Amino acid sequence: MAKTADQPRERFTNFTPYEMKKGEEYMSAEMLQHFKELLLRWKQELMEEVDRTMHHMQEDAANYADPSDRATQEEEFSLELRTRDRERKLIKKIDQTIDRIDKDDYGFCDQCGVEIGTRRLEARPTATLCIDCKTLAEIRERQTGI
Ligand SMILES: [Zn+2]
Repeated sequence: MAKTADQPRERFTNFTPYEMKKGEEYMSAEMLQHFKELLLRWKQELMEEVDRTMHHMQEDAANYADPSDRATQEEEFSLELRTRDRERKLIKKIDQTIDRIDKDDYGFCDQCGVEIGTRRLEARPTATLCIDCKTLAEIRERQTGI
């Protein structure tokens, strides 16, 4: 029985939380560098996962005579392809975020302009909204999405 495809890592946890120095300004050059490194390492990890998925599929590809075996394999592959697609989208989002860091346009809410905060950004480095605006947007989405 083959294993099912893993979910892409929506979070990156392999880092040391940033400690602001006394009197340090939010999104100082050093802080921006911290998030850039975090995003680059996360991206690296995701790209390795995409590679692993590809290898897994190539190794597993077999010609089954039994149609039900074939169906199972097709199902597994389509699951893996969906995971890969999500990983690719996430990598794209990470690239866009790194771009914003390079333009010194990172860490503030796109909606209301407040500081998103280092802890929230470490939990979700690609966040572009503060927690309040994000919550509001989700409520609105739910109301109009049905
Ligand atoms: Zn906001």
